Amino acid sequence: MSNPILQVSGLTMDFGGIRALNKLDLDVHAGEIVALIGPNGAGKTTFFNCVTGIYTPTAGDVLMTRPGDKKPISLKGLKPNYVTQKGLARTFQNIRLFSKMTVLENVMIGRHCRTKAFILGAVLRNASTRREEQQIAEMSYSLLEKVKLADLANELAENLSYGAQRRLEIARALATEPHLLLLDEPAAGMNPQETQALIELIREISSDGQAILLIEHDMKLVMALSDRIYVMDYGKKIAEGNPEQIRTNPEVIKAYLGED
Ligand code: ATP
Repeated sequence: MSNPILQVSGLTMDFGGIRALNKLDLDVHAGEIVALIGPNGAGKTTFFNCVTGIYTPTAGDVLMTRPGDKKPISLKGLKPNYVTQKGLARTFQNIRLFSKMTVLENVMIGRHCRTKAFILGAVLRNASTRREEQQIAEMSYSLLEKVKLADLANELAENLSYGAQRRLEIARALATEPHLLLLDEPAAGMNPQETQALIELIREISSDGQAILLIEHDMKLVMALSDRIYVMDYGKKIAEGNPEQIRTNPEVIKAYLGED
């Protein structure tokens, strides 16, 4: 079997006296949808922050194996922009769009985050750059079609509905062409119709072969989409399995799901 795209082992994060992550092991393979669930304060977002370079973990390893790579690379200690360049993109629990820019420009920025020009801050106004910009605009527009926002391409991001803003964040993350997409509570604050549309969108993205790791409290979404689920409590993994195994696991019911 090939190496997982993401292989996390022994991940530990201390904030002063608080151990937010405690020797967590987790992996995601190509094409999988994996969910990370657990009660408030379990350490889920801290996990994303450690994997994406926002925090440097106290201990443990974060390895990524990209398609075609013989050996994994370590993401530990890399700054977030370099983690994105290696092929790991994320969305945030609280929407973080460039509200005064257009919907299309928001997605184009995602693409620039993957290119060297953006890292160097040197977008030169010469003919080849204009050609590149045109290509990036076209690629970004096709992503807007995927998330059903193409009609709103020239609208300011701040004018979108809540559900549409969440879909725009996903398009911006996809514009970086990630090997793995991390979604932090993508359904938070959505109404049932918006959540259903999100489930269909995530299914469609996954059917293109995109590996996805998501944090979510909405169990309908988690159970409908996940190939595998990890359950955390107090920074530790308390269970791992497919949706049926998790639904019927007594420890998970006690710590998180509760009785029906
Ligand atoms: P939720 O489902 O509510 O989003 P979570 O599972 O994502 O919760 P985290 O936000 O990762 O949980 O928090 C895990 C623990 O780490 C909590 O006790 C939290 O207070 C603590 N924590 C997180 N970030 C920091 C920080 N920057 N400084 C100090 N403590 C922190």
